[in-house]
Amino acid sequence: MRSYTLGRVRGIAVNVHPTFGLVPLWVLFEFGRGEANPVASVLFGLLLVGLVFGCVALHELGHSFMALHYGVRVHDITLLPIGGVARIEQVPVRPASEVMIAIAGPAMNLAVAVALLPILLLFGVFRGLDSFADYVFYLEQISPGGMLVYLFATNIMLIVFNLLPAFPMDGGRVFRAGLTTLVGRERATRGAVLVGQAIAVALAVFGFWSGEFALGLVGLFVVVAAQAEGRAVRVESAMRRLRVGQFAIWDMGGIQPHHPLTYALRGGPRDVAVTEDGHVVGMLWRNQLLHALNGGITGRTVADVMDRSVVTADVDDSVYDVQQQMNRLDRWAIPITEGGQYRGIFTADRFVHVYHHITPPVLRTRVAAYVTGCLGAFAR
Ligand SMILES: [Zn+2]
Repeated sequence: MRSYTLGRVRGIAVNVHPTFGLVPLWVLFEFGRGEANPVASVLFGLLLVGLVFGCVALHELGHSFMALHYGVRVHDITLLPIGGVARIEQVPVRPASEVMIAIAGPAMNLAVAVALLPILLLFGVFRGLDSFADYVFYLEQISPGGMLVYLFATNIMLIVFNLLPAFPMDGGRVFRAGLTTLVGRERATRGAVLVGQAIAVALAVFGFWSGEFALGLVGLFVVVAAQAEGRAVRVESAMRRLRVGQFAIWDMGGIQPHHPLTYALRGGPRDVAVTEDGHVVGMLWRNQLLHALNGGITGRTVADVMDRSVVTADVDDSVYDVQQQMNRLDRWAIPITEGGQYRGIFTADRFVHVYHHITPPVLRTRVAAYVTGCLGAFAR
């Protein structure tokens, strides 16, 4: 079944799943029956549900923007009747970045709640509401006030529910990141998967038992997603065992500072190490080379354009560590040395190649699913 694309935000497709068609049917049923003015009631319901899913989409966009900020690719966002999923590329990032990506979703809902709060309080003052129960009463009202209270409650629910430590939900990712700093990523993931699945099973059982089917489905989804992410982390630990030296490309031994820029263009513009007597003395970045082209390159040498900061990795470093280093330094390539001598260059493209090489095809399209359950949002 194909999803329909609603639109794109910063290049990220926001899709609706075909099953989303059930939502308006549900609104028709839930808001239409037994109402004095069914047409107005259904229109109200459609607007309300539209706004609720707007908040779910904002939540997923929060994850997505933060992922883009850390250079992690975002596949797409899909809205489902039970919530939303942002598919974000499964790459090992630092625990701190992972926490930021995970909490960026609930942070969006917090921002919405904070923005609604003064309006809500003002509404309360005008209506003379002075207890929590007074506000709860409005949850079921078909009125602008009812919509306000409902949206506020929905955003609070999105924050609280998603911060449950049920990996791979947001709270579970934060939990895993915390464990990672203590016991390493692979064991942290195993621990988080166990705890997450226990919570998810409890949610699913409680959901189906209490008739909250959305909760039951979210629980089942979390159980399956946790399993898949556990597998993906085993691939990651394989990368820790591979030596980067095996994958470095010689690339003609790099380029020398006195070489003319025209020489650097032979074989196409690319990130290339600058070496002198076999020692790395800097990098000639593709972007800077292309930029220099605009200013005319005749008579200019590599030394005029090169980046003189020297960052290298050792042949015996693991592919994983080098990739982490590249992430941290925001570099696309790192020259590899052995005993101080240049041995080749390791690039982001090379990393993708290695990653594909060791990842079984079933896991290759593995993405981290940032799931948002919006259960109960429809319970009236
Ligand atoms: Zn989330």
